[in-house]
Amino acid sequence: MFDNLSQRLGAVVKNLRGQGRLTESNIQDALREVRVALLEADVALPVVRDFIARVKERALGQDVLSSLTPGQMLIGIVQKELAALMGEQAAPLSFAAQPPVVYLMAGLQGAGKTTSSGKLVRMIRAQGKKKVLLVSCDVYRPAAIEQLKTVAAQAEADFFPSSPDQKPLDIALAALDYARRHFFDVLIVDTAGRLHVDEAMMQEIRELHAALKPVETLFVVDAMQGQDAVNTAKAFGDALPLTGIILTKLDGDARGGAALSVRQITGKPIKFVGVGEKLSGIEVFHPERMASRILG
Ligand code: GDP
Repeated sequence: MFDNLSQRLGAVVKNLRGQGRLTESNIQDALREVRVALLEADVALPVVRDFIARVKERALGQDVLSSLTPGQMLIGIVQKELAALMGEQAAPLSFAAQPPVVYLMAGLQGAGKTTSSGKLVRMIRAQGKKKVLLVSCDVYRPAAIEQLKTVAAQAEADFFPSSPDQKPLDIALAALDYARRHFFDVLIVDTAGRLHVDEAMMQEIRELHAALKPVETLFVVDAMQGQDAVNTAKAFGDALPLTGIILTKLDGDARGGAALSVRQITGKPIKFVGVGEKLSGIEVFHPERMASRILG
């Protein structure tokens, strides 16, 4: 992940560091290389365009040319803008509602919703919320409910049983009622995913959203999907008031474009990244740290 991008940007950075003075044309050349590197990493075109325009404006406006360390200054601007692109600061989970607060998991099949539901338990506990209940509303894949049950056991969280002959909305409401009566802090609702965005799936999850009033509606998306990740995020973002994104499979060989564009395109923060199949494979997403990592 980011290896290629890091390498290419690293070369630009190294080159700039060595320059005692910069001309406007040096800056243009450097930015052209940054642009190509971002496009090759699968960052969405409008995001790249905006990014380069912002860096250029700041670089020319901030007297980079007359600075004593112009290369350093330009690198600083690129790094700040990269972090800004990804949201600047880490976005914490919200607990701002009467418990049990509800987290709704949305996304395509295979994105990592079930795994991420288990991973979130640890993140929630780290915030001092102890009692977490998990429920699956995926009545279309019989194995899905069993899979969440296994995940819940691994995460040492409670599991609310459901079965494929029930309606998703009935399951969700029964789980919420149970969570209320048993004083749970958080109810995580895993939902069905389809292979592609389709209207029936969107309608179902909109109904779940309306009934559950979740404080977090987390869109789970596979970073390996590259540009498609961004398109899917946009489709879900148009259909549902998302509160954040979990970008999974960052441990794979994704080129990183999704991490760099998804915030900008959807306007929603990446809250967590998935970095492995195990339940420990989750990290809070820190845009600034990621930006430094990318620049190497
Ligand atoms: P769902 O259909 O959205 O619920 O997706 P699952 O949670 O079943 O995940 C699909 C596959 O992706 C499983 O094999 C998971 O182990 C795997 N997976 C999920 N998150 C990650 C991750 O962050 N890294 C890696 N390497 N694999 C992941």
